[in-house]
Amino acid sequence: MNKLASSDPEAEAIVEFYRTVSTGALVQRADEVCRSIHGNKVWLRGLVEFSNYCSMDCQYCGIRHSNTNVERYRLSPEQIVNLTVQGYEAGLRTFVLQGGEDPWFTADRISFILDQIKTKTRGMAAVTLSLGLRPRSVFAQWKAAGADRYLMRFETSDPELHRRLRCGATLERRLEALEDLRDCGYEVGSGYLVGLPGESEETRIANALLCREKKFDMVGIGPFIPHPETPLGDAPQQPLELALRATALVRLLLPLANMPATTAAGSLDKQGREKMMAAGANVLMPNITPEDFKKNYLLYPNKICLDESGFECINCLDIRTHLVRKNIDYARGDSLSWSPEP
Ligand code: SF4
Repeated sequence: MNKLASSDPEAEAIVEFYRTVSTGALVQRADEVCRSIHGNKVWLRGLVEFSNYCSMDCQYCGIRHSNTNVERYRLSPEQIVNLTVQGYEAGLRTFVLQGGEDPWFTADRISFILDQIKTKTRGMAAVTLSLGLRPRSVFAQWKAAGADRYLMRFETSDPELHRRLRCGATLERRLEALEDLRDCGYEVGSGYLVGLPGESEETRIANALLCREKKFDMVGIGPFIPHPETPLGDAPQQPLELALRATALVRLLLPLANMPATTAAGSLDKQGREKMMAAGANVLMPNITPEDFKKNYLLYPNKICLDESGFECINCLDIRTHLVRKNIDYARGDSLSWSPEP
């Protein structure tokens, strides 16, 4: 029995259910729970991948520092603000600003961007940052400048595997930073990869239980897809089913959380995002980064939706959500588990 589960009888029962039922039954149960709480809504987030520079060297990541085959780019603060304003005018109300750990984007530059977005959208747009580890004082500065949410996946709950895959970076420090974000008042998102080499079924269960223990407001789960220009390029590709089972398990453990149907799932399987939505995911993230740039933000190979604008993607996503009897919603979609009081 997992240590976490033993102190949480409800989680223990959910994990037992997970272990014993078929994927079909698990997904069906997660879908029922999702619809009972979130209805048929799927929130839209406009994703801006603004820099593929990264000082880190994670072994699974295509834009890792050591990959010299990447054409590096960095959007200017003005470009980032203009993109979000364009998205706002198209109806989007939440934007995710994502980049590698790029020191060019200092605390003050990000504060400037946040201030501009908030001013130009009259405070109506929610901004999620996904910029990796920063000191607590910087998280506090960005919150004060208008950031609403922060995403930082822990990737694996196995401390040794984490250290190995993230070139010495510790899980402990990652979790500490996630606590800092919570203390600063952010809506906190995390998540993990599924199918990493060295991971076991027990790791996957521990990953999901960690999300419950930390009460994350958002959880993103991505199937690991080996990138040929990384040290894990020859690792086996695990079936999407593992990520679907993980999504369903987290939905049962954290019914209120917002969970994206990740682009990685759609890249591994043409119907991957529909399958994720049918397993309890309730968020989609059209990538509104200009096509000239987003083709170089390849954390994994064969990424979809690179040749069309994210605004065109919304029509396609609308059709996909209808296929699973859900409807796109343009509202901010704050997590139901989040409260402004830390
Ligand atoms: S996973 Fe993130 S931190 Fe690690 S190398 Fe890739 S972009 Fe950088």
